[in-house]
Amino acid sequence: MRNQGHPAGSWYAATADPFPEQPALEGEVRADVCVVGAGYTGLGAALELASRGVRVVVLEAARVGSGASGRNGGQIHTGQRREQAWLEARLGLEDARALWRQAEEARDHLYGLIRSREIDCELRDGLIHARHRPGGEADDAAFIDHMRTVYGCERYSLLDDQAMAQALGTDVYHGGLVDAGGGHLHPLKLALGMARAATADGAVIHEMSRVTGWRRAAGRFVVETSRGRVVCDQLILSGDGYADGLSPVIDARVMPINNFIAVTEPLDRPDILPSGMAAADSRFVVNYFRRTPDGRLLFGGGETYSMAFPSDIAGFVRPHMLRIYPDLADVAISHAWGGSLGVTVHRTPFVQELEPGVRVAAGYSGQGVMLAPWVGALLGRAALGDTEGTDVLSRLPCPPFPGGPLLRWPALVAGMSWFALRDRFG
Ligand SMILES: Cc1cc2nc3c(=O)[nH]c(=O)nc-3n(C[C@H](O)[C@H](O)[C@H](O)COP(=O)(O)OP(=O)(O)OC[C@H]3O[C@@H](n4cnc5c(N)ncnc54)[C@H](O)[C@@H]3O)c2cc1C
Repeated sequence: MRNQGHPAGSWYAATADPFPEQPALEGEVRADVCVVGAGYTGLGAALELASRGVRVVVLEAARVGSGASGRNGGQIHTGQRREQAWLEARLGLEDARALWRQAEEARDHLYGLIRSREIDCELRDGLIHARHRPGGEADDAAFIDHMRTVYGCERYSLLDDQAMAQALGTDVYHGGLVDAGGGHLHPLKLALGMARAATADGAVIHEMSRVTGWRRAAGRFVVETSRGRVVCDQLILSGDGYADGLSPVIDARVMPINNFIAVTEPLDRPDILPSGMAAADSRFVVNYFRRTPDGRLLFGGGETYSMAFPSDIAGFVRPHMLRIYPDLADVAISHAWGGSLGVTVHRTPFVQELEPGVRVAAGYSGQGVMLAPWVGALLGRAALGDTEGTDVLSRLPCPPFPGGPLLRWPALVAGMSWFALRDRFG
């Protein structure tokens, strides 16, 4: 789905101070580094580069933060998208440890950025992981033990059925765990705060400037939009689920899927998430929810895999919400919207140098709030020659989707629908 700007039904857009419009690119501009896409990844890169005095130009097809970064659930998951045990089995213990350290640095980076740049984005601590099937307590206990003994991480704790019901205000789940290192925030306020910080440091952002192509010319890159071009030494491609046609290598590995959020009117329901933490469940098509500062329930649920969004997004999300909170049947939904995010075959981000001087990071597969600002910063560092951070990320397995450019969509839809079906009958 092409990004047309902030969606009309967005509670985030309704509650964030707008970012001043940035002029579209006109004519030819010179830069050290050109960044394509003004979400967390692109803004993270721009911030890193601008703060080091590098001439950086960001080209954004729509408005700053109007991609997934300004539409998401705002949930901060700690760690990488895949569990450490999976990373150990795939990459060995040494790389798995390096990836854990990276994720911890990503967390420190995010919290440090919010603090040091005074980004008021309603940051709250704590994330509850709820099990939708019975019988997973031993697995959760083994996970907590593994994280404590191998990684020294003490932040996870178990919840039994009853404690989970009290934590969420619903008894549909079968226990789970709390990640005291997780949390939640207002995602658009974070993106706009990053943009303010980057422009204050000297980054130049052009909105309504869709990149139509790029090429190498005379040892540099020429990045084209409909009304201008940037001539640069290095290029960072950070269009994630909204990029299409920037590179066939990315298109083969990062597929857009659509996910949807509904927000209720303020609720007088102190039993729902009384701790103020956010929650996500263990379904493949995950349900995730949290309270807003003014007492609404912000609920994410349901995915589609086509180019178009449902015409009634509130009606599309409502059944997912009622499955968890049946007694909200009469509650009005005031806002609803959708967004596209990049996923990869193994749900590991695709971080690569495609050719000398051209780098990409995309496909966080639903876990970009914490990772993307940091990975963007690492891409910025790599553009300056420091590839220590990106080296281990580029070893994550990220094969093309089966079927090639023509068949990848049907293959993805079939695969995703199968997992979603398993949820339904699980
Ligand atoms: C509904 C939803 C819920 C989510 N919930 C969570 C969550 O709770 N927690 C979590 O961690 N993650 C979540 N995610 C994922 C998270 O939002 C993303 O991983 C993250 O925002 C990716 O950031 P990004 O900068 O890489 O991409 P984006 O924020 O999508 O930014 C890409 C930008 O590139 C621009 N662009 C694309 N192509 C071009 C071009 N040719 N020229 C110029 N500009 C271009 C787009 O317009 C867009 O603004 C969710 C995503 C969605 C959609």
